[in-house]
Formats: sequence, C-alpha cells, structure tokens
Amino acid sequence: MTGGQHVDGELSPQQITFQLHSEGIRDIYLVSENPDAYPASDIAPGTKTAHRDQLDEVQKTLRQVKGASAIVFVQTCAAEKRRRRKRGTLEDPQRRVLINPAVCEGCGDCSVQSNCISVEPLETEMGRKRAINQSTCNKDYSCVKGFCPSFVTVDGGKLRRRAPADLGNIGELPEPATKPSLDRPYNVAVGGVGGTGVLTIGALLGMAAHIEGKASMILDMSGLAQKGGAVLSHVRLSEHTADVTCSRIVTGTADLVIAADEVVAAAKETMTLCESGRTYGVINSHVIPTADFILNRDFNFQSRKVNHVLETALRKDSSFLDFTKPAEILLGDSIATNMMMMGYAYQKGLLPLSAAAIEQAIEVNGVAIKMNTQAFRLGRLAAADPARIVEMMKGQDDTVAPKTLEAMSLDEIITHRGALLTDYQDAKLAERYRKLVTQVREAALNGGFGDELPRAVAINYAKLLAYKDEYEVARLFTDGRFEKQIRDQFDGDFKIKFNLAPPIMAGGKDALGRPKKRAFGPWMMPLFRILAGLRHLRGTALDIFGQTAHRRMERDLIAGYEKDVAHVLTVLSPLTLDTAIEILSLPDRIRGYGPVKEKSVEDAKARYAQLAADLANPPPAPRQIAAE
Ligand code: SF4
Repeated sequence: MTGGQHVDGELSPQQITFQLHSEGIRDIYLVSENPDAYPASDIAPGTKTAHRDQLDEVQKTLRQVKGASAIVFVQTCAAEKRRRRKRGTLEDPQRRVLINPAVCEGCGDCSVQSNCISVEPLETEMGRKRAINQSTCNKDYSCVKGFCPSFVTVDGGKLRRRAPADLGNIGELPEPATKPSLDRPYNVAVGGVGGTGVLTIGALLGMAAHIEGKASMILDMSGLAQKGGAVLSHVRLSEHTADVTCSRIVTGTADLVIAADEVVAAAKETMTLCESGRTYGVINSHVIPTADFILNRDFNFQSRKVNHVLETALRKDSSFLDFTKPAEILLGDSIATNMMMMGYAYQKGLLPLSAAAIEQAIEVNGVAIKMNTQAFRLGRLAAADPARIVEMMKGQDDTVAPKTLEAMSLDEIITHRGALLTDYQDAKLAERYRKLVTQVREAALNGGFGDELPRAVAINYAKLLAYKDEYEVARLFTDGRFEKQIRDQFDGDFKIKFNLAPPIMAGGKDALGRPKKRAFGPWMMPLFRILAGLRHLRGTALDIFGQTAHRRMERDLIAGYEKDVAHVLTVLSPLTLDTAIEILSLPDRIRGYGPVKEKSVEDAKARYAQLAADLANPPPAPRQIAAE
C-alpha cells in the first residue's frame, strides 16, 4: 500500500508468496532492499529472492517465462519512511549524500537513476547543477548510482540546521474583517507535493470545523503518494452534516485553493475545480522540483504557461507569494510552509473557521505544535502586516545565492571563464579562449547580429576547453570550495567518502553494464591535492591520462569547435544566424562522465549533422515563406 496506509488484515510479503504459489504460480521473485530478511524457510517453495538493484534483471528473466509469473516487491514508501524516522519508529541512518556542484556536469543521470525529486536543480554561474535537498532526502542513496564523481557520502556528524529566528512577540492580530458564510458548503482545495504535509492541512481544517460543531468532509486524492507526486485534498466545510452529501468538490465550485506548489495548482485536477469569478487562490510561488525535472534535465520551472493557467482560472485578487522562504528563514524548516499559507488564508478572511479552533486543532494533531502554531500566526501576520515579516527576515538570511548564468552579462561570463581557465591550466589557455571569443564578438558586432552568438561561444568554448579530467576533478575537490561546503552543511564528528569509478582502477560493472563506482575514504584528499598540482602536465608527454579514449575525444571536440567557429564566421548572415547559434551551443548538450558523456556526444553529433546541412543550405527565412 502507499502513503503509509495500513493493509487490512495481516498479509505479509511472505504470505503473499504462499498465496501466489497456491494459486499455481511457480516463478516467483521476492525483491527487496534487504533480501536476507526473507529466508527460504519463510517463503513459498521455489521463490527466489533478489536485491532491488537487480529488479531490471529479474524482470528480464521473468519476461522469458511462459504463463504467469510474479514479483513481490517489498519497499516502504519514501514518505512513510520519513514519517517513521521522525517518530523514531524507524532507524535513521547516519549517512548523508551531497554533491560537489563544481564537479557536477548537470547531466541528470543521478535523477534518472534515483527517480528522486530530492535531487534538485542548483542554478550557478556555470549553468544548472544538482544539489541534494537534505530536508526531504529519504536516504535510499540511489542517486549515488549517477555515473559521476561528484557524490560524496558523509557518515556521522549532524546537519547544520538554521536555528529558528527569535520571533519576539507577534502580538495580537486583528480578526479578519469578514469571513465566508456557511449558508452553503464552503469548498477548499489543498494541493501540493506529497510528503510535505499537504494532507495535514485538510485534516486540521476538518478538526477545527469539528471543534466548532460544524461539519466537514475530506477527500484526499493522493494517487500513488510517491514522494514528489501531486497530492490534492478536497475539503468541504458546512454548518450541518446534511448540507454536504458528497466529499468531492464539483467542477468549478472551489471557493479557495491553497497550493504549496504552482505546478500542482495548475494541474488539470485542480484547475477543473476552479472558476475565475469564485475561486480565490493562495499560491506558493516558491519553485519546488517536480517529477518533470527527472525526465527533462533542463525543465523550465518558471514556465510562463503555468502562471498564465493560474491567472485565468483564479480570481484576479488571488495571492501569489513565496511562503517557503519565510518558513525556512524564520522557523528553520520549509515544512512550515503549508501552515503559513493556512494562516495567510485565514487572515485574508478566506476560512469560515475561528483562529482559536484552528490552533486547538494543531494541538490535537500533536505534531510540532509550537512550530505549527507559530507558522499559522506568521502566515496571519504576512497578510495583516507584510512589512513586519520583511523586517523580521532582515539580517536572518545569510545565504548569498550565487549569480546564475542566465543573470550574467557577456563581459561577466568572459571574465569568469577566463579566471576559470587560468586556474584550470594556465594564463595561456585563458588567452586562447579570449582571443576566439573576441573574434566572434567583433564579427557579430560588425554584422549587427547582437550578443547571442558571442555569448554562445563564450559559454560553450570554455566548457570544452575545461573538460573535467582526473586533474580537474581533483582540483575541484581541493580548491577550498568543497571543504567550505562540507563545513557549512555538517557539524560534529563525521567521515567523508568519495564515490568514484576511476578508469585506471577497474572495479567490475554495475547492473547497467557501466564501470562500478566504489567508495574511497578521506585519504583521497591528499591524493587529489597531488593530482591537482600535476595539472600543468595535461596534454604533455608526461600526462598519464592523456592518451585514454575519452581525453582524445575531448581534445578532438575542442579542435572541431575551433574549426566550426572559423567556418561559421565565413557564412554568417541573417539567414544562418539561428543555425550558427545552435551549432556553436551544441557543447552544452555534452554532459556527464564516462558512458553518460559518450552517449551525449553521440546525440550532439546527430544534431550537428542536421545543423551543418542547414548551414550549407539555409532554410528560407520565415518572412520569405510568408511572402511567397
Ligand atoms: S554530473 Fe550528472 S550524475 Fe553527477 S551530480 Fe551532476 S547531474 Fe548528477
């Protein structure tokens, strides 16, 4: 079952195997993260056990079987695991995973391998990288299978948590001027991402109604309730039980949508409940990664489409605010977001309940009573006196977000990449870079083609020149930034391990047939320092890694790119500009390490062939087509 629902009766995985066996199935596999917990004596005769890492192999084996076969897959759902750990009923492993963003290539293989949305996008000066959200990580460590060296495991120690701010005395808050009447049922749709306390809001509203002697009906649409999946609660409040006959909100009759996530709010299931003349929205504008990010590494979270859908489906006076930031800064935990939103909705006069009943419901719920009550009051304050919330946050937010690539000007990019290439190799390499970029910049300026082409070259040429070989990975672990990252995130006594698959130390293949990653202890750091110091040997006769197939491929890519730039400049015209930009941006598609990189090079080459043909024979400009 999902979402922590209890299974009716006592059917255990072992009993399921016996049931399947007694129904005549002979090819049965029990797959689990701990197969040793199921000895042959406890399961049906002939049942085989396998680790969940072997699921793919098991499926391939069983697809050859004629007739019915069965897999009993045993795993506690991620949201439920976190719940149990919080309650202390499940062991909380003292191991965490973190990503060194400088080493990360943004290939997305870790998202694909883990299918986990705690692997989040991190926008940096070098483009989008990945980071592990430590608050939502459920520690199954499957992201470590991502084929790259940027994953570091940290055993022991403690996460440094932001301490809640001293909120002082929030003081008496004015009661909302009006409240919705319950002459007819009042419909609230609460939406968000699974595992973040969305269903709790519905439950609290129901309890508060009960405390006031009112009636409520709640329908939780949690689907598969997988972590990161969309969750929607239909909450119907009324004066008398007889007023509400069905728990589902009928199409177009929601009075209020509280959505902790814009993408979930804009989903069809939520939007069909809304009517622009009736439904008020309280929407969290903070970006929460969704499952789309797993499938599309460059997924655009700020999609204008989402905002447009919400603006047309909700009342014009709806509220779109980042509730997560104050929850994190003032209460030290993003989990307080939903409760803040409920407080905000209350203060806006959008809940037909009293604050006293809601606070009592928080107490009855019995979980994080202090934080939830404070979050509810802060949400009220955000509506009653937004300036005071801003004031309270001042000086508390010590994190300086790095500049993102998108926000950088062409000059900033050139300066940044010049410094990077000097550190990577030497001033000569930086000079080679600047020379080519300047050439493209001048050609674009002279032709009146703007900045887009030189910008593409400034980003992509630097990326090719600074390919991440052994020396560079070593440098990126030892240039001080990684050590600071560890110190900022962890406290106490901990030990780090690097997860690597060095080609010169072959360690077998993993389930996907790729070189197996192995854990290397903290003794790697001095080795990394030595390697980083040897980076000036790169490309010389003494470069011990220089003749591997990958390094040769990387050098070929650079030479090919320089030739392409020279060619593009000879054919640059209004007709070829778009193709030129795309062809010189192709290196951005080449990401990752080892087999992941090989695959991305193949894909980029396929696209290159089409673009090269377009460059030779430019397709007619759209304006010309229209004129014909
Ligand atoms: S390089 Fe790829 S696999 Fe490694 S952390 Fe970045 S996105 Fe994940």
